[in-house]
Formats: sequence, structure tokens, C-alpha cells
Amino acid sequence: MKFFCVGRNYRKHIEELENELPQEPIIFSKPETAKLPKDRDFYIPEFSDNIHYEVEVLVKIKKVGKYIQPEFAHKYYDQIGLGIDFTARDLQQKLKKKGLPWEKAKAFDGSAVVGEKWFDKKNFENIQKINFSLLKNQEKVQKGNTSAMIWKIDELIANISKYFTLKMGDIIFTGTPAGVGKVKEEDVLEGFIEEQSVFKVNIK
Ligand code: ZN
Repeated sequence: MKFFCVGRNYRKHIEELENELPQEPIIFSKPETAKLPKDRDFYIPEFSDNIHYEVEVLVKIKKVGKYIQPEFAHKYYDQIGLGIDFTARDLQQKLKKKGLPWEKAKAFDGSAVVGEKWFDKKNFENIQKINFSLLKNQEKVQKGNTSAMIWKIDELIANISKYFTLKMGDIIFTGTPAGVGKVKEEDVLEGFIEEQSVFKVNIK
């Protein structure tokens, strides 16, 4: 399996990092080894002094697909989840400035937190109206609603599958809302979909 991630899908997050509004979705991937193993703490890697959390709604692909049209995209997933796209922001800024790929800043081991809890999309009246949030040490640092996505889930699937074959078990990180920030040792991050706790990660 692999992870696909969407950059700059929420306007307020684009503004906080002073990025440009993209003309089409910005997609990058993480390999399977990026997944933080279940119940494992996140260790700040030695190559970064500025690891940021980015809470994101996840979509799990349930069957293989290529060139999926937006109107059929809903047939390719049932499960909605929540995770963190950990980012070495200092390294990413350096790479971006030189026009180099972001992999080292985005796809390193442990950079993909995937909440154990998944929700059937039928549980939501509208998947483009889901509230989600991240608490750091019990304080809310990020909150979003999927209605604010620039590209909706079905449009993302259509765009990604133009370039990459989607396979069963692939997971899409759909972008982060505003409020990203740095983690330090002993922080505890907890993610919520609506009122339900989906994951908890200790930073070491
Ligand atoms: Zn992200």
C-alpha cells in the first residue's frame, strides 16, 4: 500500500504558510514505511528542529482504480479516518526554496499517523461536512470542516488516479486546515472526528 497526500487543500492553511493557491491539486506520496506503527510513540528525528503536526481526514481505497471519473469516485471507498501528516518544516522550506522534492521532509519513517478507528461513510449525512480537530496537551490547536476543502474527496480521487493507479488499502491524506505547529518532547496529540477520539500520539 501507499499513502497519497494533498498539499494546500484549505485556504486558511495556504495563507498561514504564505503559499500560492494552486491551479490543480498538489499530490505527493509516502511509502508504507512512513506509517507510525500502532501504539508506538513518535520520536522527533535528529534531522529536524521543527516537526509540525498536520491533522487530516483520511480516505481508504477499497478497490483498484485508474482514470476514475469524479462521479464514480464514491464507489472506490467506504471508510473515513483521521491521521497526522508529520512534516519536517525546516527541511521542507529548504527543499522548496531549491525546487527539490519534499520526500525527506514528508515521507520519513513514522511521518504518517493513521488512527486505528475508521468510520463507514454511511455514518455521515454528508462526507463534505465532517468536523475534525486536533488537541495538543488537551488544548485545541486545529479544527476543520471538510466543507472547506478546495478539492472535494471525489475530485481528489479523480485527479490522483489520472497519474497513479489506486489500489485496495491505499490511504489518501486529504489536506490540513490552519493551525499547524511545532511539536516538542512530551507533547500528546489527540485527534477527533466530530466528538469521537480517533488517535492519541505521544511525542518523544
Ligand atoms: Zn499535509
